[in-house]
Amino acid sequence: MAAAPGLEGTSTNGSGNNRDRLSELAARHLVQPWPVAGQIGDEARGLIRSGDGVYVQDEHGNRLIDGPAGMWCVNVGHRCKELADVLYDQAMALSYNSPWYTMSAPSAELAERLGKLAPGDLSHVFFTTGGSSAVESALRFMQFYNNVRGRPDKKLILSRGGAYHGSTYLSASLNGRPRDRDWMDGADHLVVKLTCPNPYRRPEGVSREAFTDWLVAEFEATIEEHGADRIGAFVGEPVMASGGVIIPPDDYLPRIAALCRKHDILYVSDEVVTAFGRLGHVFASKDVFGAQPDIITFAKGVTSGYFPLGGMMVSSRLFEELRRSNHPDAMYAHGLTYSSHPIGCAVAMKNLDLLEDGLLDHVREIAPYFLSQLKTLEELPLVGEVRGIGLMACVECVADHDSHNPLRLDTEVGQRIDAHCQDLGLLVRPLINMCVMSPPLTITRAQIDEMVRILREGITRTMADLR
Ligand code: PLP
Repeated sequence: MAAAPGLEGTSTNGSGNNRDRLSELAARHLVQPWPVAGQIGDEARGLIRSGDGVYVQDEHGNRLIDGPAGMWCVNVGHRCKELADVLYDQAMALSYNSPWYTMSAPSAELAERLGKLAPGDLSHVFFTTGGSSAVESALRFMQFYNNVRGRPDKKLILSRGGAYHGSTYLSASLNGRPRDRDWMDGADHLVVKLTCPNPYRRPEGVSREAFTDWLVAEFEATIEEHGADRIGAFVGEPVMASGGVIIPPDDYLPRIAALCRKHDILYVSDEVVTAFGRLGHVFASKDVFGAQPDIITFAKGVTSGYFPLGGMMVSSRLFEELRRSNHPDAMYAHGLTYSSHPIGCAVAMKNLDLLEDGLLDHVREIAPYFLSQLKTLEELPLVGEVRGIGLMACVECVADHDSHNPLRLDTEVGQRIDAHCQDLGLLVRPLINMCVMSPPLTITRAQIDEMVRILREGITRTMADLR
């Protein structure tokens, strides 16, 4: 792969020094996301120099497949000239406008386009800077909505074990993955946690159907226990992404959506990962899972990671209720300096063109191959299950293949596999005992073969380490 413009000659020979210098700068001054206390200052994170298509290039000039597409976001692939051109052109035309008292053409045009693409009557969009701020906006909207309607007690939020919804205070309070909350505070008095709908971890001897019935019954019992008049929203990812690509049983989401509607609980579908092509559709809630939300949150793939943008789509029914409320002067006092950013919105428009111009079809066509090839890894004794949908998949490692016994958390198998794979030419996203794969949507069959071959070798080497 050619070095990206501006990086020629800066890369690898002699880059050892450059790398050492950058690591030192980072150690002294850069707080990396999700740092571990005892390692702050001496944690070495790999230096990525450039990207092209499904590949990135590391500091040694090695070409690696970007298995997680950054963080589930580089959907159209790296170094996409069309997006880069739009970014540049929009910055030169209008780099910023205050969303407080002005608006830009790209934001209005994107809002209209998304309103047409979103399911049902989700025809209004509020733009944010990413996923956490999208979820936070949705939750604050629910609070506002219920205050205006004269239901100030209807504020509890239902979330689930295994969920990840962000890193702002309220969004992070919903998180349910191991470790996320061990050392962090949250608005616990506002959140009720439900069971993770993970069919692989359902109780032994229980069918998928009976497991679904049990989850739905738990949902109903929770409403009964806390009272529908105190529950404002249910927030759920259609497929739990960072929790390990957990695909709920078939009719779980439609049944939960129906219960929400029945009890006047807003169903917030967190599509930060699943929207914009990952599952072969612009939005997945309705098209893939048959569930109609009241609010959809999105981010990441909306600009393929080329610009930080997120947002929430809101049902026009809710806006109508607000318009007709007894408090016409009530203000949803919520906005961000970078809401409706013109560059982000312009990039998102072009990104949508690319998705609609063949990329969504490509995902639908290639996804079965992606999953069937990854599934072959289930032959390996360390692999308990490979599951996936669209172009997102998870390889879950277990201590015992037959009993599904989990591995000890401190084995960090995902990290071991990732380290081996990096040596071999593949980035994977390690999650304790799991590896998540969500490559750029442009991936070809040959690149899938390469990815699976390397992953197999990485797992095999890890098995040898653990022996
Ligand atoms: N929601 C989901 C489902 C996510 O996966 C993430 C991030 O991975 C977020 C919200 C938070 O998004 P961001 O990191 O852009 O704030």
